[in-house]
Amino acid sequence: MERSIERAAKDLAGSGYAIALTGAGISTESGIRDFRGPSGVWTKDPEAERRAYLSYQRFLDDPKAWWRESVTAARILGDLDKAEPNPGHYSLAELERLAVLKCVITQNIDALHEKAGTKSLLEYHGSVSKLRCVSCGSRFSRAGFSLEKMIEEDRLPPRCPQCHGVIKSDTVFFGEAIPGDVAHRSLEEAERCDLMLICGTSAVVFPFANLPRIARQRRGVTIIEVNAEPTPLTEERVSDYLIQGKTGEILPEIVKAVKNIRG
Ligand code: NAD
Repeated sequence: MERSIERAAKDLAGSGYAIALTGAGISTESGIRDFRGPSGVWTKDPEAERRAYLSYQRFLDDPKAWWRESVTAARILGDLDKAEPNPGHYSLAELERLAVLKCVITQNIDALHEKAGTKSLLEYHGSVSKLRCVSCGSRFSRAGFSLEKMIEEDRLPPRCPQCHGVIKSDTVFFGEAIPGDVAHRSLEEAERCDLMLICGTSAVVFPFANLPRIARQRRGVTIIEVNAEPTPLTEERVSDYLIQGKTGEILPEIVKAVKNIRG
């Protein structure tokens, strides 16, 4: 383990354009369950996965009813507003401050990279802290909408202040296309990087899981995984090597080693 941490630090310190990809695994140490790990939401309750697949159609069929339910329903991942970043998130923010990491592309919707201070951030599946207009794609802070009051006053669904389109949560539902701006910029990053650090993802959700495969097609790109268990990227040799363990423990060690190399 120590040797692969040193190796990752050397690779990062020597890279010209390193990016990180993250998934639910980086947030489990903040108390947010993942979906497919041993204690994951889907692993423990496969029926919840089936229900989640129906959510987008329910929204399209009746956005008002969807909003009424969603404002009052218990969230599947708990109260994400109360969650705090862990050493894994802070380590990626630190690597950005050290000018090693140029961008983080996350599948997570929990806004913890933003809270940890990462500036160059692409939220591939959106964020719980934002809402998005389905017509013009504008995003708004969720805090700016008083949704409970809108229920009371029978004003749901929320409408876009710019084009009057229906507003949904910014989080991308199963069956919904990835918003064009984020999909496009993520592809550009995958095509540009010479190092990809992949943290805490099972890498089975597409199209996100294509990003490492796109990077792999170019010569000279180093792909490192930090994950609790091997993934298809490990098995198909898309990644060069796996550092197996917890992101909240391994990433701070990598940062320390990068700083040692930099002197
Ligand atoms: P996943 O649940 O499919 O896989 C998580 C992976 O991380 C597993 O391989 C697991 O073994 C590993 N892992 C768990 N804890 C870890 C730790 N401390 N250190 C290192 N590895 C750890 O997650 P995914 O690949 O991100 O796909 C799930 C989808 O669900 C994503 O699209 C995401 O949007 C959504 N999701 C988001 C959150 C969140 O925002 N925190 C949580 C659950 C699911």
